Amino acid sequence: MDSELQQVIKDFKAYLQQEKKKGLTAVPVLVKAVKEGKKPAAIDLSKIMTLEELYQQFSQCQNCPLGRTRNKIVFGEGEAQARLMFIGEGPGFDEDQTGRPFIGKAGQLLTKAIETTINLKREEVYIGNIVKCHPMKNPDQPTMRSNDRPPTAEEMEACIPIITRQIEIIKPDIICLLGRTAAQAILRSNAGIHELRNKFHTLNFAGKDIELIATVHPASCLYDPANKKYVWEDFKKIRDFLKRA
Ligand code: SF4
Repeated sequence: MDSELQQVIKDFKAYLQQEKKKGLTAVPVLVKAVKEGKKPAAIDLSKIMTLEELYQQFSQCQNCPLGRTRNKIVFGEGEAQARLMFIGEGPGFDEDQTGRPFIGKAGQLLTKAIETTINLKREEVYIGNIVKCHPMKNPDQPTMRSNDRPPTAEEMEACIPIITRQIEIIKPDIICLLGRTAAQAILRSNAGIHELRNKFHTLNFAGKDIELIATVHPASCLYDPANKKYVWEDFKKIRDFLKRA
């Protein structure tokens, strides 16, 4: 049995234990599928050509444990042909409640920085996350604030095909990676954020070379306002790049 199937069975067992507490007694179709060792059918994402189709494909996604505890999936929002795209690590409490990315205090700071430093409106860019469902420290308390945690490597691996296809569909000229987790996941690096930020990286997505720049997560500026200088510095690089390109 390969490790992927073992993980599916482990996750499914955890799900059943959780559901049993809520009174569930049987799930015959799913049990049959797992007993037969069937994996979910692989989807050829390259055939999905629009953000709307992609959303429809994953709006009920249960490909990782985060799907079971989310309130709303946070797919991403903004201009479908944006030149500039932002990618964070995952939704928090406010985002889980509303289904919209970066709308809490960190999101307000991000919006202000986009408008004042890059001179774009929030609606002119696209904002998404590596994982689409809220990672919680305590999943039994989905209505509790300050219950956020970074996504695990497994959760990011399960979800990263969605943001990758979003990038391929939007085809931005530049992507800003918000925080260490998002930067490491997309750049496939173990380096710290201060090693990754303040410079351009180039990756090819479906035939297009796209520039990427990492910066500190806006939430870190709430804990330590001194971090704002890094966001401002990196955003000015983005502004200058957009003027040049
Ligand atoms: S985080 Fe991504 S992979 Fe996991 S359930 Fe949500 S949409 Fe699916």
